[in-house]
Amino acid sequence: MTTDLDFDRDHLWHPYTSTSKPLPTFPVASAKGVRLMLEDGRELVDGMSSWWAAVHGYNHPVLNQAAKDQIDRMAHVMFGGLTHEPAVELGKKLVDLTPEPLEKVFLADSGSVSVEVAIKMALQYWLSQGYAGKDKLLALRNGYHGDTFGAMAACDPVNGMHSLFSGVLAKHYFAEAPQCPYDSDFNTADLDSIQHMLAEHHQEIAAVILEPVVQGAGGMRIYHPTYLKAVRALCDEYGVLLIFDEIATGFGRTGKLFALEHADVCPDILCLGKAITGGYMTLAATLCTRQVAAGICEGEAGVLMHGPTFMGNPLACAVANASIQLLLDSGWQQKVAAIEAQLKDELMPLKALPTVADTRVLGAIGVMEMKESVAMEQVQARFVELGVWIRPFGKLVYIMPPFVIEADDLSKLTGAMRDLAEQK
Ligand SMILES: *Cc1c(COP(=O)(O)O)cnc(C)c1O
Repeated sequence: MTTDLDFDRDHLWHPYTSTSKPLPTFPVASAKGVRLMLEDGRELVDGMSSWWAAVHGYNHPVLNQAAKDQIDRMAHVMFGGLTHEPAVELGKKLVDLTPEPLEKVFLADSGSVSVEVAIKMALQYWLSQGYAGKDKLLALRNGYHGDTFGAMAACDPVNGMHSLFSGVLAKHYFAEAPQCPYDSDFNTADLDSIQHMLAEHHQEIAAVILEPVVQGAGGMRIYHPTYLKAVRALCDEYGVLLIFDEIATGFGRTGKLFALEHADVCPDILCLGKAITGGYMTLAATLCTRQVAAGICEGEAGVLMHGPTFMGNPLACAVANASIQLLLDSGWQQKVAAIEAQLKDELMPLKALPTVADTRVLGAIGVMEMKESVAMEQVQARFVELGVWIRPFGKLVYIMPPFVIEADDLSKLTGAMRDLAEQK
């Protein structure tokens, strides 16, 4: 069996691609552990976890079994008026694992949808409280929150999609992104911008939305957790809700189960996604406090105005339950700590190379920021030649491998990054 690449090129959109000038795609026949098996027989060590998701690697027997067991019971039933054990079990796990005040769970179909739901919760909360004017968000520069219109409007206005869609996107406020690196001393100057915005506009602002500690697709920036503590205090002072988007950082990636634990801060609303099913199915969740939920439901509408067709999909919930349990039982903290130590050893020295602007590491995330944008097509092909799957964007070459990766495979990934840095 071989993939019809001509059809692929001619008819299928891939993420952020042109159909007129399609870039090469590599057909994958199967995947196992940290390896992607290409149809031509080559094997690639996966450095991407399929965009933060496949934390246990691919084709895991425990997750396969969970999917098989559930599919023989039911793949899906509507969640309106019906419920089921996989959803309830997942709800219990999420309430249990996240900070105590987060007690209400909305199951969404994808990360972007969970952000839409978070935004809707915040807007509906203030509407219900009689503050119709609190209908804006305060987001951060370099933020990324998804590709749907509500989420897009909270993405970085320059490297996000604002300019293109500026006529239709909601207009929100943006504060400068924090500059202090994770392991430096915190500089309170990082708070000036957000403090100023809140002081000036809090009467219009429903919520601050941000990615705690690691800004992902908007720049792979890793910042000081003290910033989060201060933002929590500012939100309380100015009567603004706080939304954490942990779609990328959740489920162990940064060395804590959730990145909010680096600062011991609890948001009012929390978005989870990506790794929630171990990379098997699309699923996400939006959690909120009892107070936010009650605030929404005492309003005129009386209900949260959202309910996707595939909400609480039992198959996805069953795999999520198995994946979360597997994670908790896997000794992930030691694994992520070992990956972090090795990434620091192998990537930090690259900072000295003339082509490299910066390298940074947190948990199982390793980033090499180049001085110039990389030529994606050539670099991707070179990485495949070297036997690794790493997908750079712009100046950023980064890896977030499955937590099960062995040291020698991880060295292959960092070796390929070094190869790129030395070639240029
Ligand atoms: C990936 C991502 C999203 C969007 O999730 P999708 O599943 O792609 O819709 C939102 N926020 C952050 C921080 C992400 O990394």
